[in-house]
Amino acid sequence: MKDDKKARLYKKDDLLTVEITDIGNDGEGIGKIDGYTLFIKDAVIGDLVKAKIMKAKKNYAYAHLEEVITPSKDRVKPKCPIARQCGGCQIQNMSYESQLRFKQSKVRNNIVRLGGFDEKEIDSIMEPIIGMDDPFKYRNKAQFPVGKDKNGKIVTGFYAGHSHNIIPNTDCIIGVPDNKEILEIIIAHMEKNHIEPYDEVTGKGLVRHILIRKGFVSGQLMVCLVINYKNKNNTDNIYIKNQDELISKLSLIDGMTSISVSINTEKTNVIMGTEIHTIWGQDTIKDTLCGLEFNISPLSFYQVNPVQTEKLYGQAIEYAGLTGNETVWDLYCGIGTITLSMSKKAKQVYGVEIIPQAIDDANDNAARNSISNAKFYVGKAEEVLPDFYEKESEKDSSSNALHPDVIVVDPPRKGCDQMCLDTMLKMAPNRIVYVSCDSATLARDLRILCDGGYKLEHVRPCDMFPMSVHVETVCLLSKQ
Ligand code: SAH
Repeated sequence: MKDDKKARLYKKDDLLTVEITDIGNDGEGIGKIDGYTLFIKDAVIGDLVKAKIMKAKKNYAYAHLEEVITPSKDRVKPKCPIARQCGGCQIQNMSYESQLRFKQSKVRNNIVRLGGFDEKEIDSIMEPIIGMDDPFKYRNKAQFPVGKDKNGKIVTGFYAGHSHNIIPNTDCIIGVPDNKEILEIIIAHMEKNHIEPYDEVTGKGLVRHILIRKGFVSGQLMVCLVINYKNKNNTDNIYIKNQDELISKLSLIDGMTSISVSINTEKTNVIMGTEIHTIWGQDTIKDTLCGLEFNISPLSFYQVNPVQTEKLYGQAIEYAGLTGNETVWDLYCGIGTITLSMSKKAKQVYGVEIIPQAIDDANDNAARNSISNAKFYVGKAEEVLPDFYEKESEKDSSSNALHPDVIVVDPPRKGCDQMCLDTMLKMAPNRIVYVSCDSATLARDLRILCDGGYKLEHVRPCDMFPMSVHVETVCLLSKQ
C-alpha cells in the first residue's frame, strides 16, 4: 500500500529537486527522496539537481537531469563537447580523482556484496587503484559504426548510450589523432562512389564498422572495414567500389601497415565477422609491450590501453611470485601477452585461448621473441583444461603441468566458466592470479575459489578505461 502511494506521489514528468548521494554501476547519479530512489544520468555525487521523471516505478524512477542547481566539488566540464550524448564516456563530467575513487569503491563493494566477503577483510587487502598520469588519448583501438544522419549524409562516430543512434565524431579525445584522417577518407570515398552504409533494419548496405588499431610503440596502423559483402565467389580480392583509389589514399597515411576487410553478413550486434581478407599491406601490425614484440591480427584481442597494460601485467607478474622454476598456465591468453611476459621468469608456461587467429599470433610471437618454453592450446578454457587434466592424469599424475605453481586467468566480462573453475581447483596451483574486466563476475568467481580452498590475498584495481565506468582488477589468491 505504502509503495503504491509513493508511485502515485511520483509520476512521469514530475520535476524534483534532489541531492545526489551515490553513483550507480553505469555512472548515473543516485538521489533519494523519502526512500524513493531516482537514477539520474549525468548527475554527479554531491550535485544538487533538478530532475524530471521519465519512467516511474514503484520504488524508483529514471529521471532526466534538467538543471544542476549546486554543482558537486567533483564536477568538471567535460573536455569533449559531445560527452553527454555519446555512450563511450559515461563519467567525463567527474574529476579524474573522483573517477578513481568511484572505481576503487565499485570493485570493493562488488566483492563485498556479490562475493559475500567480509568488509574489514577486503579493506585490509585492497591496494589503491593504479591511475593514469594523462587519462586522455589512451586507446589504441576503436570500432566506429557507419550509418546515415537525418539528412542522408554518411556519418561515423559512437553509439549513444543504450542505443544504436550514431553520435557523429571522427576525433574522439580518448582515441588516437590518426582516427580522424582515416575516417574522413573512408566517408568521402563512400559518398563519392555511392557506397551505402549498412542498415540494421533492412540488412542492406555495405559498410558496417571501421576498426582502427595503432601500435603505440611501433607507430603501425591497421584499418579493417567490416562489410556486409554477400558475393561468395569473389576471386579478385575486390570488395569495395574503386577499391584501389581508397587504398591509394589510406596507404599514404604515415604508419599505415595493414588494410583489410572483415565479412559480416549476419543480423547481429557482434561487430567483426570471422572472415578477414587483407586488401593492402601486411595481415598484422606489430607492437611492443613489456619489452616483447607482438604481432596483432584484426580478430585478436589486444589490451586497448598499452600504458596501463604494462602496469597491470607488472602487478600480475609480481603476484605470480615467479623465480624461474615455476610452471604457469595462462587461461584466456589472447595473443599470449601475459604468457610470454611471464615466460622469461618461469620454467614453462601454457596458454589457452578460444580464437584460432590469436593462437597463431601467440605462436608467432613466441618465435619472434625467441621464447621456447611456451606452449599454446586453442579452444575453450572450460574444455581444453578438463581434457588436458583427464589425459595427463592417466599418463603422469605428478606432472608439473597438471599441478602448476601458478594459474593466471583473464576472462571476458562474463567471467570463468564453472567447469574451468572446478578444474583449476583440481589442479590446485599454489597461487591463482585473477585479472578481470568485470568486478561483478570477479566477485562471483572469487567466492567459488575461496570456497574451494583459496584465500584472497590482494586486490588491486587498475584504471584501463579512464572516462568510462569500466575498471580492470588484478587479484592474488593463495592455496590454504
Ligand atoms: N590475457 C589477454 C586476453 C584477455 S581478453 C590479454 O591481456 O591480452 C579475454 C580473452 O579470452 C580474449 O582473447 C577472448 O578471445 C578469450 N576467450 C573468450 N572466451 C574464452 C573461452 N571460453 N576460453 C578461452 N578463451 C576465451
